[in-house]
Amino acid sequence: MLRIKNLKCSYGSIMAVQGVSLSVRQGEIISIIGANGSGKSTLLLAICGLLTTWKGEILFQDHNLKGMSPTTIVRQGISMVPEGRQIFSPLSVMDNLKMGAYTIYKKGLKKQVDHDLEMIMNMFPILRERADQLAGTLSGGEQQMLAIGRALMARPRLLVLDEPSMGLAPKIVEMIFAVIQKLRQEGVTILLVEQNARAALKIADRGYVLETGKMVIQGSAQELLVDDDVKRAYLGKDYGNFYDGRD
Ligand code: ATP
Repeated sequence: MLRIKNLKCSYGSIMAVQGVSLSVRQGEIISIIGANGSGKSTLLLAICGLLTTWKGEILFQDHNLKGMSPTTIVRQGISMVPEGRQIFSPLSVMDNLKMGAYTIYKKGLKKQVDHDLEMIMNMFPILRERADQLAGTLSGGEQQMLAIGRALMARPRLLVLDEPSMGLAPKIVEMIFAVIQKLRQEGVTILLVEQNARAALKIADRGYVLETGKMVIQGSAQELLVDDDVKRAYLGKDYGNFYDGRD
């Protein structure tokens, strides 16, 4: 579904992504893990057309995304849940959700939008309760639900999530990861960037590890969960029964 070959992204002299290749097959959950500044967000921005100066190849369902605007990429079937949610704080919850459907409204498919609003409010009942409330007054967890709901309003085939667990209480993180699994069951393919490597790999089929802009390890999620280098660098305190927090 998504094939990236030798992707290179830079900000001036900073080489943020240095020749990364990866693939996402239809129906998979793919997790990208890596430390702060390893290039995860930059990779997602390039996929979604929010960073345009990249080199290499990004193919989505055999269409080359080079030169496509973010709107066209949404129309192709890729929606993003950005890092830090980036909801529209001064707008109501309902208006935020409707904003996610602007490509669908443009086609005049209002009934489809109403249907999808209902589906998302069933998925996240708290958003129904808060429909008229300003989005900026929601809790962090509610804002994350809203950001996911807004992305789903565009009916993506590939949902790209940038650190959805960031800053959230463990119970909410559990709920968000359960929603991601449910979405996959409903046919949405998932590309998930996470610092919470263990939780991400537990729900993923395959994973990639980025280090300073380079893809250093890839494999099935099961393989990565037991890989010594991954455990030492990204799975922290839960390293075996013997890990005492020292390297
Ligand atoms: P985090 O988890 O902290 O978001 P990340 O893995 O997503 O990290 P990126 O945000 O993609 O990493 O950053 C990759 C590199 O590019 C870092 O060295 C970062 O400082 C740099 N960088 C990111 N955005 C910009 C920018 N707008 N201008 C200049 N450098 C940037």
